[in-house]
Amino acid sequence: MSSVETIHVDGVWRAATSGAQREVLDPADATVLAVVAEGGADDTDAAVAAASRAFDGGAGVWPRTSVAERAALLRRVAELLQRDREEIALIESRDTGKTLEEGRIDVDCVSDAFRYFADLVVGEGAGRVVDAGSDTVHSVVVHEPVGVCAMITPWNYPLLQASWKIAPALAAGNTFVIKPSEVTPLSTVHLVRLLAEAGLPDGVANIVTGAGDPVGARLAEHPDVDLVSFTGGLTSGVKVAQAAAPSVKKVALELGGKNPNVVFADACATDEDFDTAVDQALNAAFIHSGQVCSAGSRLIIEESVRDRFVSELARRAERIKLGRGTEKGVECGPLVSAEQLAKTEAYVASALAEGAALRCGGRRPAPAPGRPETGYFYAPTVLDLCHGAMRVVREETFGPILTVETFHTEDEAVALANDTEYGLAGAVWTKDAGRARRVAGRMRHGTVWINDFHPYLPQAEWGGFGKSGTGRELGPTGLAEYRETKHVYQNLAPAPVRWFAG
Ligand code: NAD
Repeated sequence: MSSVETIHVDGVWRAATSGAQREVLDPADATVLAVVAEGGADDTDAAVAAASRAFDGGAGVWPRTSVAERAALLRRVAELLQRDREEIALIESRDTGKTLEEGRIDVDCVSDAFRYFADLVVGEGAGRVVDAGSDTVHSVVVHEPVGVCAMITPWNYPLLQASWKIAPALAAGNTFVIKPSEVTPLSTVHLVRLLAEAGLPDGVANIVTGAGDPVGARLAEHPDVDLVSFTGGLTSGVKVAQAAAPSVKKVALELGGKNPNVVFADACATDEDFDTAVDQALNAAFIHSGQVCSAGSRLIIEESVRDRFVSELARRAERIKLGRGTEKGVECGPLVSAEQLAKTEAYVASALAEGAALRCGGRRPAPAPGRPETGYFYAPTVLDLCHGAMRVVREETFGPILTVETFHTEDEAVALANDTEYGLAGAVWTKDAGRARRVAGRMRHGTVWINDFHPYLPQAEWGGFGKSGTGRELGPTGLAEYRETKHVYQNLAPAPVRWFAG
C-alpha cells in the first residue's frame, strides 16, 4: 500500500491532520509493508462528528433505511469480500503473519457474518405487541439503533473481529468509527473501502488508524459516542471501561482467555481416538502460533494417559513447519511483532524458573529459506509439570506455548478448568456422554466444545465469563448489543385522570 490516506471521515480518505505516519511491518522479516496515517485526537473527533451527523438523532439517512435496504447492503459487502478474497487474504497474511489459507478462511467467515446479520434482521418482526389489558391501549416494544458506535479491534483477527462489530451495527442502523490495531490496520482499511463501494452513505462508516492512546482512548471517553465495543487485552479493556464510565455509554468488552482443553483417558481408548485427541490438542494450542483468544493453551489431562499423550504431542509439535505465511507448505507463521516474541520468550523463561519441564520448543528456530533471522518466529513449545501457581498457567501468553497439568478425578478436572480469572472457551474430551454433559455444564466458560476445539458459528453467541469480558458478539445477542429497546404506549381514548382534584 503506497497511500497514507487511511483515515476515512465523512466519505473522504485522507492522511492524519498532523501529517504523522506509521510504518506497518511484515512480521516474517521486519521490513516495512505499508505506511499508514497515524491519527490523533483531532482526527478522532472529526470522525465522531461525521458519524453523529450521519446518525442525526436517528433521523439520518442510514438509521431510517428499511431493514430490506440494510440487509441488501450487507449482502453486497459479502459479495465484494468474495470478489477480493485472494487480495484480502494476502493482505491479512502479510500483515498478521498467519498463513494464506487462514487468511482465506477469515475472509469466508467475515462474508458469513455479513450474510448472517442480513438474514437475522430481515427475519425479525416490527416489534413485540404487549397486552396492556385494555382495548383502548396499543403497547409495543420496538428496537432502535444505539447511535454512534466506537469499535476498537486487536491484531490477531483484524478483519474477523471488525466484521463481528460492523455487520450487526449496520444491520441495526447505527453509524460508527472504527480504530483497528496499529499493528495490523490494512485489511480493515480495505473493508471500509468495500462498504463505500457497496453504497453506504457518507459518514456512516469512518475509520481512524492510529495508536490505542490517543485514538482508542478518545473514542472510549468521547461524550458523543453512544457505545464502545472493544476486543483486545484485559489491561486495555479495563482502561476502556474506565474511560467510558463518566459518559455512561454502553460498553462491550471481548477480552482474553486462558482456555482449558480437558482430556479424559477414555478419549484416547483406541489408536484412532488417541490420534484425534492429540491432533486437536495441537490445533487448539498452535494454530496462528497460539495468537488466538480461544487458544487451548492449557492441556488438562488424566494422569494415566499423560506420558504417551504429551510425548506424541511434543513429537508432532516439533515437526510444525514454520515460515512466512504466504509460502506453500507453511503451517505456522511468525508472531506478530518483536514485542510479542519477547513476551513469549519471557513466559517460557519464567515457567522454566518455576519448575516446568520443557518437552519441545523453548527457542527461536534456526533461520532457513523463507524464514529469515529478522522474522519474529518462535518454535511451538510444550511445557510439562505445570501447576496453577505458575505465571505461564495463569496469564494469557498469546504465543505458541502449551502447558500441561494433570488430574485423577472428574471433580479435579472441573476444578482445574475453572481455576482461571478468565472464562472465554474450553473443551472436554471423553467418550462418556453423561460425563461430557456434566463437565461442560460445570465449566465457567462462554463456549464449551465437547470432543472438538475452535469451531464457532455466526448463529451462536461468542463471549466470556469472568475477566474474558462483558456482552456477546454474534447470534441474536450480538445484534441486540447494538440496539436500544423502546416501549411505545399509545392511549387510543385519552381522558382526564382526575388524580388532582383542583
Ligand atoms: P490490545 O489490548 O493491546 O489492543 C487492542 C486494541 O485496543 C488495539 O486497537 C489498541 O490500539 C487498542 N488500545 C490499546 N490501549 C488502549 C486504550 N488505552 N484505550 C483504547 N484503546 C486502546 O490487544 P492486542 O494485543 O491487539 O490483541 C490481543 C488481545 O485481544 C488478547 O488478549 C486476545 O485474547 C484478545 N482477543 C479477544 C477476542 C475475543 O473474542 N474475546 C478476540 C481476539 C482477540
